[in-house]
Amino acid sequence: MEISVVVPVYNEEENIKEFTLQILPVMDSLKKSYEVLFIDDGSHDRSSLILKELIQTYPNIKLIRLNKNYGQHSAIFCGFEAALGEMIITIDADLQNPPSEIPKLVRKMEEGYEVVGGYREQRQDSILRKIPSFIVAKITSKLVNVPLKDYGCMLRAYRKELVKTMLTSGESATYIPALANSYASKIAEIPVAHQARTKGQSKYSLLRLLHLNFDLMTSFSLLPIQLIGISGLVISVFGLGFSFFLLLMRLIKGSEWAVQGVFTLFGILFFFVGLQVLAIGLMGEYIGRIYQEVRHRPRFRVQEIITSKSKNPN
Ligand code: UDP
Ligand code: MG
Repeated sequence: MEISVVVPVYNEEENIKEFTLQILPVMDSLKKSYEVLFIDDGSHDRSSLILKELIQTYPNIKLIRLNKNYGQHSAIFCGFEAALGEMIITIDADLQNPPSEIPKLVRKMEEGYEVVGGYREQRQDSILRKIPSFIVAKITSKLVNVPLKDYGCMLRAYRKELVKTMLTSGESATYIPALANSYASKIAEIPVAHQARTKGQSKYSLLRLLHLNFDLMTSFSLLPIQLIGISGLVISVFGLGFSFFLLLMRLIKGSEWAVQGVFTLFGILFFFVGLQVLAIGLMGEYIGRIYQEVRHRPRFRVQEIITSKSKNPN
């Protein structure tokens, strides 16, 4: 098998048929053996039913149904485990990145890269969505030490060996493009088309997006907690100096002077308390992650696998 395409699907009944009808001719045109793996991430709609019908008619499709919703990245991991291809491509099912861009990735991969990521040149999402993505891309580039324009674009191609390495990381919450780049040495990025979602809704609420980005930051670096530690130190020194200053003023100017500073003190107190709470929260995040990892829970559970007959050129 030369190419596996991994497609996470969560409630995409309006897109899935159109997507399949678009991707199959594109894959055929490559004249390589391939499979399209749909991972139904616990959809509540007719996505799986539609896919089962398509499997009856078209070759080279496989559907893996997870028993509930585990999230896009876990679904992709499931696809990675099942993929047989030497090259593995991930793409969303919502047609925001058109399947017709796949040959571009394949050609770039043939130049010998381990990962080829797409970046959305003219991203058709709301500004509220683009600003956090921009910040995340900057921070991730620093953390993973690979400067990339777009860490959010899921139209990407990976070499099988790289995917195997990624699979040995047992981490349950991780961010696939960043994980890949932390292992890969030959990385390329090419522009790909991006359209607004025409059917269905984005599956990411603001909270979910925040959660994903938090996963991203805490799983690739200890920097957040280190920063808290350092600022804690700086603030303690500052607090100590301030106390000395107050004591001195009291000795020089007497007790009335200090009362006027009550509100300033409140302000400072709130600052410290806030910082402590933040530090505790951050420690909690790391401890929570350790707890999750030591439990070693599987990332997902497969409920059912359905395959269409294969009809490959070789
Ligand atoms: N998706 C998934 N599980 C989830 C959320 C999303 O498999 O819990 C899939 C979804 O069906 C789509 C892809 O991941 O194929 C990207 O989701 P979406 O388009 O909602 O994300 P956005 O483009 O808004 O970032
Ligand atoms: Mg989308």
